[in-house]
Amino acid sequence: MASTPIPSHLRQPANPYQRVTGRSVDYSWVSFDLVTDRRTDVLVIGAGPIGLETAAVLTAEGLTVQVVDSGPLGSTIVRTFPPHTRFFTSPERLSLYGLAIAPVHQEKLTGEEYLAYLRQYVATHDLRVDTYTEVVSGSRAPVRVVGRTLAGVQRQYAASTLVLATGGTDRPRRLGVPGEDLPHVRSHLGDAHRYAGRRVVIVGGRNSAVESALRCYRVGAQVHLVHRQEHIHDRVKFWLRPEVQSLLEEGAIIGHMPSTVVAITPEEVVLSDGARIAADDVVLQIGYEQDGALFEMFGLPCEGERDAPVVDQVTMRAAEGVYVVGTATAGTQARFEVFIENSHDHPLRVAAALAGRAAPPPRPVRPIPEI
Ligand SMILES: Cc1cc2nc3c(=O)[nH]c(=O)nc-3n(C[C@H](O)[C@H](O)[C@H](O)COP(=O)(O)OP(=O)(O)OC[C@H]3O[C@@H](n4cnc5c(N)ncnc54)[C@H](O)[C@@H]3O)c2cc1C
Repeated sequence: MASTPIPSHLRQPANPYQRVTGRSVDYSWVSFDLVTDRRTDVLVIGAGPIGLETAAVLTAEGLTVQVVDSGPLGSTIVRTFPPHTRFFTSPERLSLYGLAIAPVHQEKLTGEEYLAYLRQYVATHDLRVDTYTEVVSGSRAPVRVVGRTLAGVQRQYAASTLVLATGGTDRPRRLGVPGEDLPHVRSHLGDAHRYAGRRVVIVGGRNSAVESALRCYRVGAQVHLVHRQEHIHDRVKFWLRPEVQSLLEEGAIIGHMPSTVVAITPEEVVLSDGARIAADDVVLQIGYEQDGALFEMFGLPCEGERDAPVVDQVTMRAAEGVYVVGTATAGTQARFEVFIENSHDHPLRVAAALAGRAAPPPRPVRPIPEI
């Protein structure tokens, strides 16, 4: 195949690796575009569902848009969903602007299926996304951002408008007890297979904890569920609740409710009532916190119990030229109130604000939120 010559202004200076190794290396396959400055109308930070939806909506408005993410597409889902976990939200409510989800099974989607949809979404809307590029510094007037790739390469971005779609589940919540940093304590379940034949203590009483307890039980682990309330949460997925409830009543999953963890040792979990549970693994499923570093970087004030950015809900504007969309608008959510299905209006409001149009009327809220 004939190669396209690289324009002289994009050519790299002498390759440093060639100087070090003294060998002649063929770098003609490298995209030299990777190390040049990128200027677009809009820079979106965050390639989660709502960041990608914003990019598609603004591209349809005729704007040039660059998306950047520190992880892969849909990084939050990759990071937090154990294999084959289903969304609570129905497919039509997860569908993003301009591309319907049509599952062959008419069931709720697994994380893997939704990630496949996000890949298809990027391809369909021809979105420009730099994955594995963490934003490490930036300013907002004018918008200048430096991203660093996994390999340590710095990329510079310039834009007229910045959209933060950075989510709200940056780091797992911590218990704040001794032993929490021991190597057998983790916050993401991962593949349940790893717990076969092990004594597992799961902490929490919402969806993630309950689903983890069920999965570990099914692979043959001895499971203890520790929750500070008397019962598992009311809004646990309806396809999990009755089964876990009956396993708890039978004692097949051993419940400690209400109870809290006061310490973790290499062999035991110590509870507030003095009980000591022998444990090979401890899985903390007590929610996530938002990292406000980017809001601070761009000088955006945050407020309230959730430390949420101050955002005008009509335009999604947080400062001149800066918009915040998706779950990023909600700060740290103890209970999810802002999620995918009620964030679809955000990109449309940004588009209207940029075009100087009145904001579109809010979509009627579905009577039963599904999360
Ligand atoms: C087990 C589980 C089940 C869930 N089920 C549902 C459900 O049924 N329905 C629902 O709506 N939600 C559900 N959620 C929550 C869901 O994951 C979020 O609602 C959704 O991902 C939010 O989308 P978003 O685009 O607002 O943000 P995110 O998807 O969180 O995207 C934010 C992106 O910003 C990137 N980012 C952050 N900081 C930087 C930086 N400095 N530089 C570059 N990139 C950065 C992150 O890597 C991330 O990809 C569930 C979560 C879990 C854990």
